[in-house]
Amino acid sequence: MIRDAEKLAEFVDEVRTWVRTVAHPNEDRVAAENVVPDEIVADMAERGYFGWSIPEEFGGLGLTTEELVTLALELSQCSVAFRARVGTNTGIGSEALVADATEDQKRRFLPELASGRATGCFALTEPDAGSEATAVATSARWDGDDYVLNGSKCYITNAPIADLFTVIARTDPDIPGARGLSAFIVERDTPGLTTSEPYRMMGQAGSPVGEVHFEDCRLPAANLIGGHEGEGFRTAMRVLNKQRIHLAALCTGPAIRMFDLAFDHAETRKQFGQPIVDFQLVAALLADCQTEIHAARALVMETARARDEGKDIALQASICKYFASEMCGRVADRAVQVFGGAGYVADHSPIERYYRDVRLFRLYEGTSQIHQLNITRQTRKGRAA
Ligand SMILES: Cc1cc2nc3c(=O)[nH]c(=O)nc-3n(C[C@H](O)[C@H](O)[C@H](O)COP(=O)(O)OP(=O)(O)OC[C@H]3O[C@@H](n4cnc5c(N)ncnc54)[C@H](O)[C@@H]3O)c2cc1C
Repeated sequence: MIRDAEKLAEFVDEVRTWVRTVAHPNEDRVAAENVVPDEIVADMAERGYFGWSIPEEFGGLGLTTEELVTLALELSQCSVAFRARVGTNTGIGSEALVADATEDQKRRFLPELASGRATGCFALTEPDAGSEATAVATSARWDGDDYVLNGSKCYITNAPIADLFTVIARTDPDIPGARGLSAFIVERDTPGLTTSEPYRMMGQAGSPVGEVHFEDCRLPAANLIGGHEGEGFRTAMRVLNKQRIHLAALCTGPAIRMFDLAFDHAETRKQFGQPIVDFQLVAALLADCQTEIHAARALVMETARARDEGKDIALQASICKYFASEMCGRVADRAVQVFGGAGYVADHSPIERYYRDVRLFRLYEGTSQIHQLNITRQTRKGRAA
């Protein structure tokens, strides 16, 4: 749902300009320094980029899903690091609070996330709980008036720099699987919480990912999101269902950027006396990119609208994430092909970096295989209904 088309168009223009005038010229710097510079983070905060999906009453812009993905499609047409810096606040790092927190919890934490004063993260994955997310072993034991957390999370985006952690932990050790899980909000300075250094990764330089450790980390009951035990997995799925549509948009943006770069290259690079775009085999590579980008965009927009209308989008969200992430990988591969050697050499084009950066999309927030299983499961459910 788009509430004010004119206002949104202005915002799209602003983000488009920001991406071209601030993000693109700083991509190499971010990759070399492995961090998004403070002045760029401050600029993004000033522009309200951290608060896109947070309700207006808590300091955000309160964007609808359709508005959010429209802007995400623009902001992601640059190195992944820029949008990943704000992305946990506009996605998985705030959504549990937006969806399920008590009024007090929202008032306490959401304005910090919306303004960018705090960086959020979402800690579900553990060494033995990856695709099998219900195998979470981090415990939250009730002791006196507090919960005491013990355990470790791994592969957590923004954990090394986060101020607020949404943590899924097991409050009832006797209930295995999803029903024993609860969601907590944990502040950085809570004694017993530590984080690792950022991992060395294949790509996404400038986007820190690491571990979170809890050792007798004591939390007041007020930090149990929503105030009810046993709701943690439901909360996590709510977060991820919305995020899958958001992430599908964030996969489509880099594909658009790679396609633009590849098209420019195909029009300017000459071989055999003519621009390579005139060769039908190169044109076919470009046409396949353009076609798949259009399909992904249409899918994302349709699903976002359906979510705004209150429809059950569990099947469509999985389709979006699966298709857009796989599509982005195919576009990256074709872009390298169009660039030839310059696509492989980091000194000659940014395509080599994009190729590595976007590989992650097929792994996190549900691998492609998990989405294939989910798509079939949801389809069967729909057919049986
Ligand atoms: C850079 C990065 C950032 C991340 N950010 C976050 C974050 O912010 N928060 C968070 O909680 N997590 C995060 N993750 C974790 C991510 O969601 C998991 O890595 C992902 O869910 C896969 O889990 P796994 O790595 O344990 O792989 P595994 O589950 O071990 O999977 C390995 C392989 O087996 C396949 N497989 C597993 N089960 C099945 C099955 N039933 N059927 C068919 N195939 C199967 C998978 O598809 C995959 O190919 C991040 C990961 C990375 C790498």
